[in-house]
Parts: sequence; structure tokens; C-alpha cells
Amino acid sequence: MDTEKTYSLEDLETVAFSGTSLAVIGHPIKHSLSPAMHNAALARLGETDERFKDWAYYRFDIRPEQLAEALPLFHKQRFRGLNLTIPHKVRALDLIKEIAPEAQSMGAVNTLVRNEAGYSGLNTDGYGLERGLAIDLDITFEGIAVMILGAGGAARAAAVQAILSGCSNLYMGNRSEEKLQGLISGLGSIFDQTDIQSFALNTLPGDLPEPGIVINATALGLNPEDPAPIDVAQLPAEWKVYDMIYNPSKTLLMKQAEARGLEAANGLSMLVHQGARALEAWTHQTVDADVMAAAAREALK
Ligand code: NAP
Repeated sequence: MDTEKTYSLEDLETVAFSGTSLAVIGHPIKHSLSPAMHNAALARLGETDERFKDWAYYRFDIRPEQLAEALPLFHKQRFRGLNLTIPHKVRALDLIKEIAPEAQSMGAVNTLVRNEAGYSGLNTDGYGLERGLAIDLDITFEGIAVMILGAGGAARAAAVQAILSGCSNLYMGNRSEEKLQGLISGLGSIFDQTDIQSFALNTLPGDLPEPGIVINATALGLNPEDPAPIDVAQLPAEWKVYDMIYNPSKTLLMKQAEARGLEAANGLSMLVHQGARALEAWTHQTVDADVMAAAAREALK
């Protein structure tokens, strides 16, 4: 089977996927780094364990309206696991019966694990983010101030992870005030006594405590000519910056942070570790995240 190819819904009915199959499904999906990362990690597992020699990870272009039809077909073809990406992460909640509590709180699933009746849903994005912060910036959320930029799915996953891990303060800013308030009230209904301070991106809250981390979960920075979402000059001197964007590998936000002497990292480590966690859920093995990171970097070239 060809793991470089982009498969479609029709292929699920006409192609026999042999061995143990995994896949990422999204729309668009052509540029996903997941097949490269996962197939590299599977090859590494196969070097020492025969059972993984026939495992393969594919990519499927599935449009939003095709998801409900696609999931039973993946199950029938015995796909062991699926990663969901844009635009399926939220929509899948209505199609999956068993959903892990953190995925429920995040309002999205990015990983499906096959069971006899269907698939159970997890969300490994928050875990991937926190591992990325630990590896790249040597911090965890516990006891520190967290500022999240954005109010979409990635911002929500980051906020839930920060709350679950016991951050000391949570600040959230977004371009659309309405979307931000919707997200904050949604989080408030799940987590009792959660005090989230909202702000407008052009005016950061005053008196920010040390230490702290800014997480960019907006799409601002995806285009090389994009401005930075905030003015890093307003951050305390010891804060760190994590940009979920990894392509381009250095956004203006990161450049401005570094110019001010603040440590900054991009979102590749989050991508790698959400993937590693998913693969661990499917294989029940410890996965070599460094192999996945190297494959992702190579695929980005
Ligand atoms: P999303 O749900 O579409 O949310 C997009 C967010 O970006 C919204 O808060 C939106 O603000 C904001 N935004 C878009 N254009 C903007 C602009 N011109 N100025 C200011 N804000 C703007 O997307 P998502 O899934 O949460 O993803 C957000 C980012 O995280 C993307 O860059 C994505 O690539 C990245 N991400 C990375 C990883 C990883 O593994 N590293 C994982 C997930 C996502 P409004 O509400 O005002 O529209």
C-alpha cells in the first residue's frame, strides 16, 4: 500500500487495506506531516518488534459532510486508530459514543481508538502542548501564569490543559470579543471557580506576575508577512513565548520575543507529542518522539 498517496472516501469501499492500518483524516490534508511522523515511528518499532512490521499510517481527504459515512467504513476496514484534523475535531464529538473527559472539556477529539462497537475519542493536543513546553522551554503549567492568544479549538485545548495542570493565573485574548466571551463562559461552566481574565490583543493586562508563558493559538503568523498578535514589549522580563505555528518555523512574535531577550519556541514539539501520545494509545508501546520529530522536520523541508 502507498502511504504517500492521499486516499478518499471511495477508496474505503474499493481498496482492501491489509495489515494494521492507521490514518489521519482531514480536509485539506495534502500537507499533513502526520504520515511521515507516524510511519517513521512505526518503522522504528518494527526494528525490534515483528508485530509492527505490517502497520501503516495513511492520509485521507474526507470532507465535513462525509465524516458520518466515513467512520463506520474505517471501522469495517479495521483501522486501529485515526487522527482527526481540520475540520473534523469538533464535529466528531456528535458521532462518537465514548469520549475521554479531557476531550469532552476541550470540546474536540483528535484521536480515535478502535473498539468492538466503534471508536473512542481522546484529545492529545493539550498533552502535546505541555510536553512541548517542557522540552523546548523547560516549563510546566503548574503554578505559573498562562496567557493564551486566540479563542478557537487550539486555544480551548490549551486553556483546558492549563487549568487541569494547575496554572496560577489564566489570561485569554482574542480578536473577536464575542468568540472570546463564548469560550470563557463555556470553560466557566465546566470548571467551577475558574477565574479567567480576558483582554484585547492590543492592550495586555497590567501587573502580570512572574513566571509566565504566552501561547499563540491564533492563525496570525501563518503568513510570513503577518504582524505579531501582541506587543511583546508589554510582557514581564522573564516570560517565555510558545507559538503553536511551526511553518514558518519562526514567526514575527518569536523574533520580537527573542529580540527582547525572551525565550521562544515554535509548535513543532506540540505536533510531535500529540502524535506520539496517539501512537502510544494505539500500540501500547513507548514511542520514540525524536524519530517523529526528525521525520516531521524532514517533511517540512
Ligand atoms: P481556529 O479554531 O480557526 O481559530 C483561529 C484563531 O485565530 C481565532 O482565535 C481567530 O480569531 C484567530 N485569528 C485568525 N486570523 C486572525 C487575525 N488576522 N488576527 C487576529 N486573530 C486571528 O484555529 P485553531 O484550530 O484553533 O488553530 C489556531 C492556530 O494553532 C493555527 O495557527 C494552527 O495552525 C495552530 N495549531 C497548531 C497545533 C500544533 O500541533 N502545533 C495544533 C493545533 C493548532 P477570531 O476569533 O477573531 O476569528
